[in-house]
Amino acid sequence: MPCLTIAIANQKGGVAKTTTVSELGELLSQQYHKKVLMIDIDPQASLTSIKGDMNDIIINNRKTMSNVMLRQSSIDEIVIPIKTNLYLAPATLVLSDVELNIINATLRELILKAALNSMLGSYDFVLIDCPPSRGLLTVNALSASDYVLIPIQAEYQALLGLQLLKNTVANVQSQINKELKVWGYVVTMTTRTNQSSDTLNEIKKDHYPILSTIPRSTKVSDAGVANMSTHEFDTNNPAGLAYLKLSEKLIGLEM
Ligand code: ADP
Ligand code: MG
Repeated sequence: MPCLTIAIANQKGGVAKTTTVSELGELLSQQYHKKVLMIDIDPQASLTSIKGDMNDIIINNRKTMSNVMLRQSSIDEIVIPIKTNLYLAPATLVLSDVELNIINATLRELILKAALNSMLGSYDFVLIDCPPSRGLLTVNALSASDYVLIPIQAEYQALLGLQLLKNTVANVQSQINKELKVWGYVVTMTTRTNQSSDTLNEIKKDHYPILSTIPRSTKVSDAGVANMSTHEFDTNNPAGLAYLKLSEKLIGLEM
């Protein structure tokens, strides 16, 4: 079965990478009945905290993405079913040590790609939640992906690091993964302020498309706590509808 792998990346923290992975994972699996694997490759492990049971993972010493990145476990061995069609490859803080330990590993940029290639469980979509850095874990995610989706928060500082991220993507494209494509931007937490519309206008000048703009809404984090997509939590919420539109586009990519 053909599977699309998408890295959700930006070296800036707090721009809604994890939220976007959670929203798309919920929508693709629950609304579109696609089989989705969410991979947490961020040592901060916020995706695992939101979607999984961090206590269970730590108390029972469960295997995580740390074991996968150390080539000790397959992805199949660590995957946790979350709900119908939705699965999580979890992470813990230990992953930050692992990033240091694999610096001298052979083919260190391709560890995740090899793990995905030997995965037996078949998925329609794999969504990778990247850390807020351009380090080896993000490079592993980009090297294993068909597309990168870049969330940007609608504020002036958002554009500062963007060129650096684009350099990392370009390096991966030329050196490691020629198949990697930039899908585009999702502009997050937009408000009715000049700062927000100025930022949006700046991003519009960029070479890559804006796929969706997500308004700021407290319902987004409420829905996360309730373990749902914002759209499922509140059908008419504009942020939820914007994420629904984005997930529709992702379904379009599949064909
Ligand atoms: P990142 O993974 O890039 O660090 P997160 O997804 O963790 O960012 O989001 C950072 C914070 O912003 C979280 O508290 C999240 O609930 C909140 N957030 C994300 N999107 C929205 C939104 N559209 N409206 C309001 N809050 C949001
Ligand atoms: Mg995050």
